[in-house]
Amino acid sequence: MPVPEILDAALLRLDCPPADCSLCPRLAGFRAATREAHPDWFNAPVPSFGDPEPALLIVGLAPGLRGANRTGRPFTGDYAGDLLYRTLLKSGFATGEYGADPTDGLELRHARITNAVRCVPPQNKPETSEIAACGRFLAAELRASRSIRAILALGAIAHNAALAAKGLKRAPYKFAHGATHELPDGTLLADSYHCSRLNTNTGTLTPQMFEAVIAGLAERLGSLAPPDRSPPTPTA
Ligand code: SF4
Repeated sequence: MPVPEILDAALLRLDCPPADCSLCPRLAGFRAATREAHPDWFNAPVPSFGDPEPALLIVGLAPGLRGANRTGRPFTGDYAGDLLYRTLLKSGFATGEYGADPTDGLELRHARITNAVRCVPPQNKPETSEIAACGRFLAAELRASRSIRAILALGAIAHNAALAAKGLKRAPYKFAHGATHELPDGTLLADSYHCSRLNTNTGTLTPQMFEAVIAGLAERLGSLAPPDRSPPTPTA
């Protein structure tokens, strides 16, 4: 039975936490302290960014303190964003120029970016209970965007959060860089190491490894995409 329009609208609203969300007391306190120290920063749950009807949903871990928590756009303003957006531009999932600022005019094509945890955690380390609490918003985002054909999980925490949001157990779907998993509803779950400075500095993830994952998804979505939405075209 088709979902009534009024319920559709409610689902769309549920994927965005309120600016004063207090489901995670530790993170709400950290937000308040950061707001006190940096009143000109965003300092709130960071909303998803990109195509409202994406074929690909990219799930990161959480906003970086001086990145998304400062600017208010996922992966914007820190090293991880430099690599992510550069790669999305190269693969055709983004157009424009990335200027490390939400006003740079960059647009995502067929892709949307969100985080497993919407509020910045101290030391980039959310607790298990916080990942579980914020999972309701990821689940709502997945329900609201029925165009999603693939999920790219950046790291094991995002991978596990995506499975939980889909109501699936972890055991049949082990995280591994470069792995892809067919989920029961037909969605493709793809894995990559997180594009953090730590991972690239240690050689865990090279830009070439990351580009290979995103280019592979662009190619697969070419055949997975609905007929009325043309796939992204990689640039030279
Ligand atoms: S991390 Fe998510 S659930 Fe927790 S306070 Fe922030 S928005 Fe709310």
